[in-house]
Amino acid sequence: MRKKYLKLQHLIIGVAILAFALTIGSSLFSSYRMNKQTLMDNTLETNRVYAEKLATTANNYLNETLQTLTYNTNILATYINDEKRLLEEADRLKMQTNTFNSVSIIDKRGEIIATSPQSLNLKGRMADLPAVKKALKEQEPMVSDPFKGLIQKELIFISAPIFSNNGKYLGLVGGTIYLEESNILYELLGNHFYNDGSYVYVVDRDGRIIYHQDHSRINEVIKNNAVIQKIMSREPNGAQRVINSKGKDMLAGYAIVGNAGWGVVAQRPTDISLEPAVTMVKQMLYVAFPLLIVTLVIIIWAALKISKPLQRLAELAENSMQKDESKNLSDVKAWYYEVRQLKTALIQSLSFLHQQVTFFMDQSTTDPLTGLTNRRTLDVKLKEFTTEKIPFSLVIMDIDHFKAVNDTHGHNVGDEVIQFLASQIRSAARPSDICCRYGGEEFIMVLPYTNTQQAFDIAENLRRELEATNSPTGEPFTISAGIAEYNQADMSPSMLIGKADKGLYQAKKQGRNQIVITSS
Ligand code: GH3
Ligand code: MG
Ligand code: MG
Repeated sequence: MRKKYLKLQHLIIGVAILAFALTIGSSLFSSYRMNKQTLMDNTLETNRVYAEKLATTANNYLNETLQTLTYNTNILATYINDEKRLLEEADRLKMQTNTFNSVSIIDKRGEIIATSPQSLNLKGRMADLPAVKKALKEQEPMVSDPFKGLIQKELIFISAPIFSNNGKYLGLVGGTIYLEESNILYELLGNHFYNDGSYVYVVDRDGRIIYHQDHSRINEVIKNNAVIQKIMSREPNGAQRVINSKGKDMLAGYAIVGNAGWGVVAQRPTDISLEPAVTMVKQMLYVAFPLLIVTLVIIIWAALKISKPLQRLAELAENSMQKDESKNLSDVKAWYYEVRQLKTALIQSLSFLHQQVTFFMDQSTTDPLTGLTNRRTLDVKLKEFTTEKIPFSLVIMDIDHFKAVNDTHGHNVGDEVIQFLASQIRSAARPSDICCRYGGEEFIMVLPYTNTQQAFDIAENLRRELEATNSPTGEPFTISAGIAEYNQADMSPSMLIGKADKGLYQAKKQGRNQIVITSS
């Protein structure tokens, strides 16, 4: 099977489109990369600043709350033994601060002596909880870690110690924030989802969620999160890209609430943050599209223009094996150097080839001494005639006593005599007749569409002409001939020659210088 080769125009178009696509692709890619980096940097910075702002807000809130509680401890110290007043004070504190889910006053032994709201029914119970015990022991304002309170709710306890006028420790007053319910943190940190996918959450110093818009996640301990690990190891505020505990890629800013050791995380999904970069690439493509089409058209046009003459040359070179394409070759528009050189070279080499072929064709079909058709070509012609069933007559002739010519005048004159006879035969023949030197001084004429009688007339004219004309020997010579007709029956060319040869033999036998038709 013939191998299929790529065409130049397809190669040029392919390479040009590839180069074009690579250029567009790489410029799109690099602007996407730059844009993406900027977007990431901006988002990270925004989230860091936001987390810091929220951490400051939370810290201020805790400071103020602790101050308010501390400020009120003087009054509470005065009424420490007046249950009724303490209850009123607890109610007032809860109302005044408006930030606690409940307020309790606990004596130094840990017994709850007043609670607001009273409906909690905690009065008289021992607040036997680690966070309360710790506050009683340290006798300092403090913010607890989350724990499960007496009413079985997850809460944070913010407390201040109560001292008497003379500095005796009396107990503490504390407010709670119920983590799993609506509480002050939601007011402070914003109880809403952001449209752009951002959200905020707060963890305590152990990585436990104390604030999250998704309430079901409160109290969950976050592991395997690089940001939370940084918060837990008390690193300074910062921002980074992180895969969160749900496996989602996030751009997170974080900040620590100094008083409580909480960590505020503000984050936004990376894919949402990078959407503008994708949009930008799409827009660039959209804007570049008409340009793209125009460029493609130009590329294809140029490729055709460049490849056309070369392709034409290639076609003509291929066809030249079968026919003469020199006219078409000179019509090829050679508008650039390589095609011009190729075209010239092709024309020259083809004409040289043509000459050579003609020369060798002549050489192989003609007899060198006489220029007549040689025996091999005769065979081919006879074969053609018989297969195409063309009627013809065949004349075979031989010079009489030729040996004597050679003997008397020498071989060269003998050759001249042969050449002389050849020219005489050619003059006697019609254009369609085939004149062949069959060997030595024997010749055959093939006369298409000619019966034996017509053939006899032609041969007879020749014979008479020869016997009356001086040859290169200085005197005339004679010939004998036999004639046979191709009868289109089952007869091969060699049989036909044999048949004619019989006539020749008979002519010689009967005294030479005569022509005999072999009829059967
Ligand atoms: P015949 O009348 O019976 O034909 O007698 P002939 O002497 O012509 O006999 P024949 O045809 O048998 O002889 C052919 C001679 O032709 C023999 C050979 O020496 C001579 N001859 C053959 N080819 C050439 C050639 O190319 N040049 C020359 N000079 N002589 C040739
Ligand atoms: Mg002979
Ligand atoms: Mg002879």
